[in-house]
Amino acid sequence: MCGIVGYIGPKTATPLLIEGLKRLEYRGYDSAGIATMNGAGLESRKAKGKISMLEAVVEGSPVHGTVGIAHTRWATHGAPNECNAHPHHDCTGTIAVVHNGIIENYGALRQMLIQQGHKFESETDTEVLAHLIEAAMDDDPLEDAVIDALHLVEGTYGIAVISSRDPDKIVAARKGSPLLLGLGENEFYVASDVAAILEHTRQVVYLDDGEMGVLTRSGYEVLDLSARRVRKGVSRIDWDLDQIEKGGFDHFMLKEIFEQPQTIQNTMRGRLVVDEGFSKLGGLNLTRQQMLDLDRIIITACGTSWHSGIIGELYIEELARIPVEVEYASEFRYRNPIVTKNTLCVVISQSGETADTLAAMREAKRRGARTLGLVNVVGSTMAREDDGGIYLHAGPEIGVASTKAFTSQVIALALLTLKLARLREMSVVKGRQIAQAMLELPDQIQSILDRASEIEAIAEQFKNATNFLYLGRGYNFPVALEGALKLKEISYIHAEGYPAAEMKHGPIALIDENMPVVFIAPHDSVFDKIVSNIQEVKARGGKVIAITSQKEPVLEKLIDYEIRIPQTEDMLYPILSVIPLQLLAYYVAVKRGLNVDQPRNLAKSVTVE
Ligand code: GLU
Repeated sequence: MCGIVGYIGPKTATPLLIEGLKRLEYRGYDSAGIATMNGAGLESRKAKGKISMLEAVVEGSPVHGTVGIAHTRWATHGAPNECNAHPHHDCTGTIAVVHNGIIENYGALRQMLIQQGHKFESETDTEVLAHLIEAAMDDDPLEDAVIDALHLVEGTYGIAVISSRDPDKIVAARKGSPLLLGLGENEFYVASDVAAILEHTRQVVYLDDGEMGVLTRSGYEVLDLSARRVRKGVSRIDWDLDQIEKGGFDHFMLKEIFEQPQTIQNTMRGRLVVDEGFSKLGGLNLTRQQMLDLDRIIITACGTSWHSGIIGELYIEELARIPVEVEYASEFRYRNPIVTKNTLCVVISQSGETADTLAAMREAKRRGARTLGLVNVVGSTMAREDDGGIYLHAGPEIGVASTKAFTSQVIALALLTLKLARLREMSVVKGRQIAQAMLELPDQIQSILDRASEIEAIAEQFKNATNFLYLGRGYNFPVALEGALKLKEISYIHAEGYPAAEMKHGPIALIDENMPVVFIAPHDSVFDKIVSNIQEVKARGGKVIAITSQKEPVLEKLIDYEIRIPQTEDMLYPILSVIPLQLLAYYVAVKRGLNVDQPRNLAKSVTVE
């Protein structure tokens, strides 16, 4: 959420910063801005809207210099307009600040600063930082003033600061919002995530909470907020540049949907032991005894990851017979959950930075649970703070609507289940059967993708719908939720996911001849039950789109559109049935002329509460 990039080195900063912002645009795109040090003083430009708007402003009226910071905003405080765009300045115009996060006590600080004579220009919480630094600034280095200012703020921040009073320097600091330093040849970067700087360096230093990076032309150092030096390791990023580019696809989302045969294979690689129906998960950091002692698992996540969590609950309870609860991370952290020393808290987050999930993980840890992170981004905060983890290895996910991360999460949960279940009651025969079916999934997904045009044709029929209902049972109920969420996120059509039989307790009232109803009805153990639910919709004139796994004579008169997926084990159907739903949402949104990769109001990686 929101993107920060900064540069100090021998090159002209502007093109590097604009390019970096474009790579971060998926994190926020309501406004953007840049500030550089031109030798005489600070220059800054801002624009409402996407990075291309800022680019046009900077082309018409360039900023100069080899030190600069830039920001793409996802507004929390104050409307998304030019004035509220970052960077924010102090009264003297000598300090520029970009910020990701929320300064929770900004109201009181603003009042105090106004009484001291400071003049505010924006409605943001961020602007107090610039004035606090101004108030703390004397002849000492910039980092000292930033430390003084940060001692006064409550809330979360990732910030980058420059000042013409200490011109050859960028000061960056973090508490609760991700930030890393990029180390190039005689040049240094600061960024919210690696995508911004991958073109220039693969050597990074991840800042932890309470740390500050001071970048100069000759090097960098990391300090804590008492100005003591902190020794940090350097990490190497092994993502490729083409992984963060569209590679011929119209949108990142479509590229990522089509990557799924490969990405789920990457999640399974080296982990699935087919002959033994078992999985090897090196990062769990749980002894055999600890796994046997588990008496409760809490899965906590947000959004799409929460949906994969529900599938995980069904897996683990069914096969490993350990009680599981799935909690919205934002709710979990503010209640009084029951956590024992034999509780495992599984946190699921593509970015590993989701603020609510991170806070829930810390809360579970504080209460004595062991934590296990299912995370995609290597080196992310959750991955560094959890007790054990299963990396998804799905590669960078840039599309705001999550697709490939979801299928990899479900695979990771299946691997975890195999491990826990085989240690307990599940037979090798059953484990092998599941593992063998998992191996077939990549080709099966490919066969669905090969027929994407059929789904595009269905999307054409329904692109003007105003409501959609998604219904599924058993393992496919969470897929109904996910299908509805995908459609809402990118096409802005109201959609609800429901357990198919629950429909008659309410949503059935919505059904008329204008209501498309998507049934996820593969030939699994609840197929006969869902047929009755399809009858109920048809009897009321609803338009039925059904995802099936074989020819079903009983459905022939009942369904208007059929999408066939291959057959698999009951528990693995979600990994196949979600693919047509991702494509349906994608094509409907494109046909409505919407920007699929940057849906309104949303941003990837929600790093604010
Ligand atoms: N709270 C700040 C604002 O609303 C920063 C938001 C962000 O992270 O983009 O400007």
